[in-house]
Amino acid sequence: MIELPDVERMIERIAGYTTGKTISIIRIDDPAVASIERDIVENHLENHAVDSVERHGRYVVLRFRSDYSLMFDMGDDGLLRLESQTAPPTDRTRIRFQFAAGRELRFSSSGSQGTVQAVAGSEFNEKGALQSLGVDPLSDDLTLARFEALAEGNARSSVKGFLLNQKAIAGIGNDYADEICFQAGVRPDRRVGQLEPAHLDRLHRYLRRVLRRATLHWSAAHSDPGWLINSRSSGGACPRCRHELTSVRVTGRKTVLCPRCQRAA
Ligand SMILES: [Zn+2]
Repeated sequence: MIELPDVERMIERIAGYTTGKTISIIRIDDPAVASIERDIVENHLENHAVDSVERHGRYVVLRFRSDYSLMFDMGDDGLLRLESQTAPPTDRTRIRFQFAAGRELRFSSSGSQGTVQAVAGSEFNEKGALQSLGVDPLSDDLTLARFEALAEGNARSSVKGFLLNQKAIAGIGNDYADEICFQAGVRPDRRVGQLEPAHLDRLHRYLRRVLRRATLHWSAAHSDPGWLINSRSSGGACPRCRHELTSVRVTGRKTVLCPRCQRAA
């Protein structure tokens, strides 16, 4: 599942090349995923430059200098990548953006995963799909006070359900939700309303710490023997206390935890 740090890395790889460059041709390979009207493609996207590439939660927004934006919902396995124009598209390729400068930006995904939508500039701010999206966990907007207020609104939810609620906090998926709970020492299956203020404070702190590290130091984080994410697939022992890890289902999702380290609440 695509999570915030994955999207952030994707953007880092494409932003330098795409920003300020003009897209000459757009080829839609899968109209079911990329349903953009021909009129918008021809008049507002083709022959216009990309103004910026932004991330909102797990969405990627490609802003054009025409006052139109393309919004990519990455689904579970969406990928935005720069490729050579001569590379043949695959059965995962959904839409291709050919730059006048020579390379091609491609969005690919499996099955019917992901969507690409065109949004006019004014709509983008007022009633775009991102309007219902929660606060970005890496932005300064997610203060402890804001986090506590969101927790209050999700008091009946499990801690994991709260972290996965994209309308509260945008961008956290299954693996990082478990990692945040593990690092904070909080059980993901506890009710949010049962947490002490000190537990909420720890969750808030580790939420930002885990996501920031996974974003800025992805390789180090993903080879850190102290991180749950690196031993969750193999099962086995807790990276911290060597107690056997437990796998349960919370909000229908596979959830890995250490019953000894995660006792808070
Ligand atoms: Zn442990």
